[in-house]
Amino acid sequence: MVEIGKPERAVVTTCAYCGVGCTFRAEMRGEQLVRMVPWKDGKANRGHSCVKGRFAWGYANHKDRILNPMIRKSIDDPWQEVSWDEAIAYTASELTRIKDTHGARALGGITSSRCTNEESFLVQKLVRAGFGANNVDTCARVCHSPTGFGLSTAFGTSAGTQDFDSVMDSDVILIIGANPTDGHPVFASRMKRRIRQGAKLIVIDPRRIDMVHSPHIEADYHLPLQPGTNVAVLTALAHVIVTEGLAAEAFIKARCDWDEYQTWADFVSQPQNSPEFLEPVTRVKAEDIRGAARLFATGGNGAIYYGLGVTEHSQGSSTVLAIANLAMATGNIGRRGVGVNPLRGQNNVQGSCDMGSFPHELSGYRHIGDASVRKQFEDDWGVTLDPEPGLRIPNMLDAAVDGSFRAIYIQGEDILQSDPNTHHVAAGLKAMECVIVHDLFLNETANYAHIFLPGSTFLEKDGTFTNAERRIQPVRKVMEPANGYADWEITQLMANAMGLGWTYTHPSQILDEIARLTPTFTGVSWERLEREGSLQWPVNEKFPDGAPIMHVDGFVRGKGRFVVTDYVPTDEKTGPRFPLLLTTGRILSQYNVGAQTRRTGNTVWHPEDLLEMHPVDAEDRGLKDGDWARLASRAGETTLRVQVTDRVAPGVVYTTFHHPATQANVITTEYSDWATNCPEYKVTAVQISPSNGP
Ligand code: SF4
Repeated sequence: MVEIGKPERAVVTTCAYCGVGCTFRAEMRGEQLVRMVPWKDGKANRGHSCVKGRFAWGYANHKDRILNPMIRKSIDDPWQEVSWDEAIAYTASELTRIKDTHGARALGGITSSRCTNEESFLVQKLVRAGFGANNVDTCARVCHSPTGFGLSTAFGTSAGTQDFDSVMDSDVILIIGANPTDGHPVFASRMKRRIRQGAKLIVIDPRRIDMVHSPHIEADYHLPLQPGTNVAVLTALAHVIVTEGLAAEAFIKARCDWDEYQTWADFVSQPQNSPEFLEPVTRVKAEDIRGAARLFATGGNGAIYYGLGVTEHSQGSSTVLAIANLAMATGNIGRRGVGVNPLRGQNNVQGSCDMGSFPHELSGYRHIGDASVRKQFEDDWGVTLDPEPGLRIPNMLDAAVDGSFRAIYIQGEDILQSDPNTHHVAAGLKAMECVIVHDLFLNETANYAHIFLPGSTFLEKDGTFTNAERRIQPVRKVMEPANGYADWEITQLMANAMGLGWTYTHPSQILDEIARLTPTFTGVSWERLEREGSLQWPVNEKFPDGAPIMHVDGFVRGKGRFVVTDYVPTDEKTGPRFPLLLTTGRILSQYNVGAQTRRTGNTVWHPEDLLEMHPVDAEDRGLKDGDWARLASRAGETTLRVQVTDRVAPGVVYTTFHHPATQANVITTEYSDWATNCPEYKVTAVQISPSNGP
């Protein structure tokens, strides 16, 4: 946050925090970054920014950053600094030894939503073409994997359907499980502008978030549901729409599978799916659900925005499907002002998923089992690919404990802090023979690593990020990498040490390869991005200039698909020992587990995570504002300072997870989404008692 001297030059690049994808002028004096100025021509931000992108870049030269590679034979040994040549040779020899001894499926890799498209593409290519199997996954596993499953199933692609500007044509905005003010602030401002112009607002969230009530904004309906009951609320909304004859039947007949619609409509019409019947489950007043359903179905253009409060549940995929059902049933797909819009948390969640980071899919979401797709990659890469889908992150860890998975390359991800069930993650990592962590800092996962490869920041490399509206934007090198290499170069060094013979000299060549092999990217090139600033995929023969709005003339899969989504309560139950439900979220100035923002001046705004409790629950336990409380679940315990507030309902408590002391994932459960294994971070039964502090 310190600004030093007058700038001498400027480079336009893209923010590396959230999925809004603001662009900035990075103003430089010599090799020093002076300030980040929001770029007026940025298509996602139009000259706006938030406190993260504007001020939180000091981590790039923080003293904690590791600049030299390190190795150690055992995790009990001290780290030993080595040259890059030595580190890469050792890495390749360890991976080759394990592959020769235990087979290709004993190795795997994890790509990062923080890295560029080109870097994710190379990591999955290294795993498939170099390691020889499909054990590649992405940190999106723990956030938006249900979006991938749900939207692909319903519409034929996991992409968000709208550009950000589309909201300016919305008449009714429905936000579920997202807190845009804190998570996606620049887009939240645009949404608020539309609401101030007269758009109606429905918020479905256990907590009274800023969008429910803030200066000049008052939600028309706030449905403060019990955590874990998203599907029940969405089913009750659908019940009202169908039984009151409000469904958009002409749209459905023209665009969707009518038989599937009828099956779904019969299901939601059942009396046990009425708002009144479900009220004891959802804890939302039936009359509010009826009012919100009527407003959404009859209020004009209806747009749905959602976040991790939808996906990080045992019914995450069902909730995404239920949202898609609601949009199709009301005809709210395929034009401006409507749509289904996942608000992606990290800067490049969309991109890392697009790039083939999942164990069953190559880039462009094409199944590895499809021989014709595989052949395209095999011909291009000169290798034979394993046709079997690989392991997801939790399955890699299970297999490590069982002894069949031995080595992992983790780029830009701290799975020990960010994945559920910390003890199990630690056990899996500890069981492996070779853990390679490629990151900026010695993160928690590095405690179990044998090789540490220092990473580069977004300021030190070229490449592209893809934001939540599918907008591919250039990331431009502002300064030379302090660690010696950009991340894509490090992956290439590893690949070549394993005999792959890659010859990329600039990420534009990797982007050319992505365009050659990915039908939604065929018209994308570095030159075009330099010329046009950004492109929204698909960019191909059918959409030469990209597609701000998806599914205009028909769904990608042909007919839109209605899927019955039965409400299944989570296995995580409250009871006499654990009577309260904990749910989690973010705050404006901090980002995820705080690895970057905690190493900047932004910490002044949020020095610690707080535990929000309703006054009744706090009083019952003898707790006041500022007291320490012990928070225990069936999985573990932690200590947090209490903030008494009626933002949360009685019986529900809330915290953020930006500081390691919080150890939120020590208390979260082992439950996960039925379709994708996305962890159920948003519902944990807890008990709370006074404490003397950590
Ligand atoms: Fe924009 Fe998000 Fe970066 Fe804030 S964190 S500046 S909203 S991209």
